[in-house]
Amino acid sequence: MDAVQEKKKIMFIINPISGVYRKKNIPEKIARYIDYVKYDYTIRFTQYAGHATLIAQQAVEQGYDVCVAVGGDGSINEVAQSLVGTQTALGVIPYGSGNGFATHLKIPPRDAEGAINVLNTGKIVKLDLIKTNLRYVVSNAGFGIDSSVARRFHHHKIRGFASYAWAVMKELLLYFKPFDAKVEIDDVVLEREFYLFTAFNANQYGYNFSVFPFTSMKDGVMDVIVLNPFPFWKLFYIFFCCVMKRPDVVKEAEIFRARRIKIHGTKKMLYQFDGDSVIWHDDVMLEVVPQCIQVIVPEHLNSF
Ligand SMILES: [Mg+2]
Repeated sequence: MDAVQEKKKIMFIINPISGVYRKKNIPEKIARYIDYVKYDYTIRFTQYAGHATLIAQQAVEQGYDVCVAVGGDGSINEVAQSLVGTQTALGVIPYGSGNGFATHLKIPPRDAEGAINVLNTGKIVKLDLIKTNLRYVVSNAGFGIDSSVARRFHHHKIRGFASYAWAVMKELLLYFKPFDAKVEIDDVVLEREFYLFTAFNANQYGYNFSVFPFTSMKDGVMDVIVLNPFPFWKLFYIFFCCVMKRPDVVKEAEIFRARRIKIHGTKKMLYQFDGDSVIWHDDVMLEVVPQCIQVIVPEHLNSF
């Protein structure tokens, strides 16, 4: 006689107010599409910023097999903090404005049925995260034009690539000054003005915009892009090359693969961690922690 497989415990964490997409009917969709043979489910709603990290920690302590972040990179970031190095796997229902992590893993955005289906039929893999001295990063982190945009447009609803591109253009044209900084990328030291410094775990900025044709979340390295100051007339050219995923042809862009990065904090700097902007005045360390979190991905996903 076959042994009866024990049901897995799965917890969904929903932030009822954040994000630009309505998540009101998510509980209904979970009830409709979840596999009741495989899972016993619980839904928890967050009440304040950072609450998802605490709820996920409780899920780990209560022996949950899966903890699902409903939202974008910011929500995944909060949940992931508590799942690193545990037996509780991370699941994702992507409903954010930036879904870099989920898009990399081919989990369909704003499609609850499709994402729940991945939870029902998918496989568990171990993925890298970037550890910083502030928190773990699931998708990307850095400083420069993207952090300025994240900060300035924090309260705006940036939907899709076109409006994100417009926000970046506006920032560049009206406000942005390059950052003076010293950065160590493994053994390479860069001390200069930066327009952009971003280290990628997932290969997407999250507005369906990636500067690299492919990056891996299990190769133990971050893919780094540095954009040095450029003459203004080149703005559209550089943007076009990045959109075409050919930053390598831009003279002002440099690409690195790194395990460890140190950003020297000589003054207050504006950073972004998974799209969330943070002002920090001390050194920032970025380090890849190989395959430290279990994540449910589509069954047939082979390269990630
Ligand atoms: Mg990598």
